[in-house]
Amino acid sequence: MNITQLRTQFIAGTLTPTAYMEQVFSVIADKDTAVNAFLDTYKAEAIEQAKIATAQYAEQGALAPALLGIPVALKNNILLQGKKATASSKILENYIATYDATIVTRLKEAGAIIIGATNMDEFAMGGSTENSAFGPTKNPLDVTRVPGGSSGGSAAAVAMGAVPVAIGTDTGGSVRQPASYCGVVGFKPTYGAVSRYGLIAMGSSLDQAGPLTNTVADAELVHEIMSGLDPADATTIAEDTYPNVPVKETYTFGVPRSFFASGVDADVLAQFEAKLVELTAVGHTVVDIELPMFEAGLAAYYIVMPAEVSSNLARFDGIRYGLSAPGDNLLAVYENSRAAGFGAEVKRRILLGTYVLSSGYYDAYYGKAELVRTKMREELAEVFKTVDCIVTPTAPTPAFVVGAQSDPLSMYSQDIFTVPVNLTGVPALSVPMGTVERDGVPLPVGVQYIGPHGGDSRLFDIGKKTYDSTL
Ligand code: GLN
Repeated sequence: MNITQLRTQFIAGTLTPTAYMEQVFSVIADKDTAVNAFLDTYKAEAIEQAKIATAQYAEQGALAPALLGIPVALKNNILLQGKKATASSKILENYIATYDATIVTRLKEAGAIIIGATNMDEFAMGGSTENSAFGPTKNPLDVTRVPGGSSGGSAAAVAMGAVPVAIGTDTGGSVRQPASYCGVVGFKPTYGAVSRYGLIAMGSSLDQAGPLTNTVADAELVHEIMSGLDPADATTIAEDTYPNVPVKETYTFGVPRSFFASGVDADVLAQFEAKLVELTAVGHTVVDIELPMFEAGLAAYYIVMPAEVSSNLARFDGIRYGLSAPGDNLLAVYENSRAAGFGAEVKRRILLGTYVLSSGYYDAYYGKAELVRTKMREELAEVFKTVDCIVTPTAPTPAFVVGAQSDPLSMYSQDIFTVPVNLTGVPALSVPMGTVERDGVPLPVGVQYIGPHGGDSRLFDIGKKTYDSTL
């Protein structure tokens, strides 16, 4: 059920938050042994809070807060006071959050009940949730396959019917790509729309938290509750920061076709073309556009992101947080703790990041990548003068088999359509666009709508018109 349906029933009294919460935990008990979406659940507290919500609905009815009694799962790089925040890393295995992230405070104020923590790629580095120190999550639609990543636990939790909404974080596609693989809706906001205070940082100039839901209307509701200026995060923006991006009756969609020239599975492309036909059939306009700089997006991302990772992860030194391995002197404590605490992908990115930031290579790599980023932004600004929205497949393939992408570069290529969005700071929405078959199993694939800066509401409008209306 989606949030709107749940709320209607909670208000009418045909279903109580308490009864629904029992269902949530029975779904988890039934399915999560095979899926492993959750690292932790908070059953006793959640049921207690559901009882309070039930009483509050009886008293307040439709005046109850917007998310009252709605169960929410949080990716485990989001701080929830008193609970483990591991980022699926051994180095934070026993780390307990000392405060709530701003988005958690806002969800709680709206009445949401946080029911558990979801699995992820370690420190959000990956696209399959196979990089978790606590075992991979499986795709609930086919447990031989990955759910995508890095917010794979959050996508799987929604797709398996455990929760109507789970929160993920998106640094290069980690909300949208798992949404595509699991057949749910995923939203990455305009950079700065949502506070990063209380999120374990990956790439600070790229990270944004976003919802994974069953409908676009639900994603919009949850985003609106989480977003807004936050004195604790100086990069947050006021709602009127960008020129008004109007919602329209019909839209002009731009398709960067040459960007798809290689690497997209033929049947995914066919689904995408069918989607474009649908858009024109209901009165929208679809035009070809060129975004030549976007082809350099993946390369620029895999320089900028590791640079920021190497800096952000310097704080995990065996002294201040989590795991501490003994050593003969301070340097040895740092080295031993980081050697024992970080997994292979995290180490690879720290090494890469340190390298591209080193004095001899800064100009050649990091400086160039930042230039590419500026060029991409300029290119986008030009394109958005003539189109309202850019449309691409969310990912070039459906969910792959666990273990199939053992080469890091082939894993990185899954991010080709999602990383330009983070590099430029614009918003993007992934919604299901049908299925393609692999080994006799129909697997979902997503379409990605990219808006101009501040175009979050426009994307929700497009999503509601083109997806929710078909449900
Ligand atoms: N798959 C991308 C990466 O590994 C995106 C990760 C993310 O958005 N957190 O960097």
